[in-house]
Amino acid sequence: MKFKIISLGCPKNLVESEYIVRNLENAGHVLAEEADTVIINTCAFIEDSTKESIETILEEAQRKRVVVTGCLLERYGQKLPELMPEVDLFVGRNYYTEITNLIDKKGLFLREGSFAETFPRRILTGKPSAYLKIQEGCDNRCSYCTVPDIRGGLKSRRPDDVVMELEWLLDNGFTEINIIGQDITSYGKHENTDLLGLLRRILMVRGDYYLRLLYMHPRGVTDELIGFINSDERIIKYMDIPVQHSENKILSLMGRGYTKGYLENLLGDIRERIPDAALRTTAIVGFPGETDDDFECLYEFIKKWEFDMLGAFMYSKEEGTGAYKMKGHVKKGVKRLRYNRIMEVQKEISKKRLAMLQGKTTKVIVEGKEEGHMVGRLLTQAPDIDGIAFIKGKCVAGEICEGKIVKTLDYDVIVEV
Ligand code: SF4
Repeated sequence: MKFKIISLGCPKNLVESEYIVRNLENAGHVLAEEADTVIINTCAFIEDSTKESIETILEEAQRKRVVVTGCLLERYGQKLPELMPEVDLFVGRNYYTEITNLIDKKGLFLREGSFAETFPRRILTGKPSAYLKIQEGCDNRCSYCTVPDIRGGLKSRRPDDVVMELEWLLDNGFTEINIIGQDITSYGKHENTDLLGLLRRILMVRGDYYLRLLYMHPRGVTDELIGFINSDERIIKYMDIPVQHSENKILSLMGRGYTKGYLENLLGDIRERIPDAALRTTAIVGFPGETDDDFECLYEFIKKWEFDMLGAFMYSKEEGTGAYKMKGHVKKGVKRLRYNRIMEVQKEISKKRLAMLQGKTTKVIVEGKEEGHMVGRLLTQAPDIDGIAFIKGKCVAGEICEGKIVKTLDYDVIVEV
């Protein structure tokens, strides 16, 4: 069978798509652009992503045999076959280990669990960048979030398996390793271990590589973890800490488990101990009960802490979550205005923070040619979500080399290697 895979949503989905591809290839099927079967790994954590998934399915189903998997299926399950008769096969995440036996069947295969093992897989990202998933699911139950229902409770991979996968990635030339999970600071909670323990194990693997830690819950960023991140050059000084809001009332309604005071201490501590760290965060605007004053305070908080990168989201009312039935839902137009204001101020902040790098010599990850220009990223720019580096000078796609930042733009930089 010739098959194509469309991976929507986040890197966790991408890693699972990579696992599916390798399994099917091992069974003799061929990944091809012109394919008879298209597998759509869907996303459904908010309304917009659900819409995108449905549109993609309907479009592909006009021409090809369609297999649907991923979050849309985990979220809406048994209802889907009736709603989408054009889909040939639905395969739940907890059937991935058996996907080769199911791929030519019709119907729905769905069962409960937290699918965490994703090795071996066929890496679909370009060298030198790859994702390494260390845990699946989440026990936190933030009141706006559908993830625990979609992906199940927290499940951590065994340290030995993580290390084995890392070694395999390094052997295959991947040297920018992006550690991912729903909340990587929850790693090992049920096994009497933690992220720090895992990182210590990982860094015993010798070699020239970089680790980037993505998705750290503020509550899990301890003093010790900050110290450890600062102690090893192989850990990129990139702190991805989604704060979601600054005001105690909203944080409490969100169920985030920390206060504004805690956040300010944490951010102050990071800025003091790792001054060159790039801080990334996300913020949700228009959460139920967010007044104009609450929003203004969030706005001032963002101005004060000058995150290098920030992604804002308009709160999305999702059935089955705690926030769905809360009072004080904010009108769409108000959410949009708040979102625009945050993004406007963040543009200025990002520009100002990047300008501080002008003239510095730094490592640059070379990705390849785009519209005739060599492009890549600084170590402090994560794949897909942050800005890029336009590269001048001789370099080869897949390498991490040294360069001088000769110009900075709003979100991007120009580097001479
Ligand atoms: S920690 Fe993240 S994944 Fe877990 S419930 Fe909260 S927002 Fe969702």
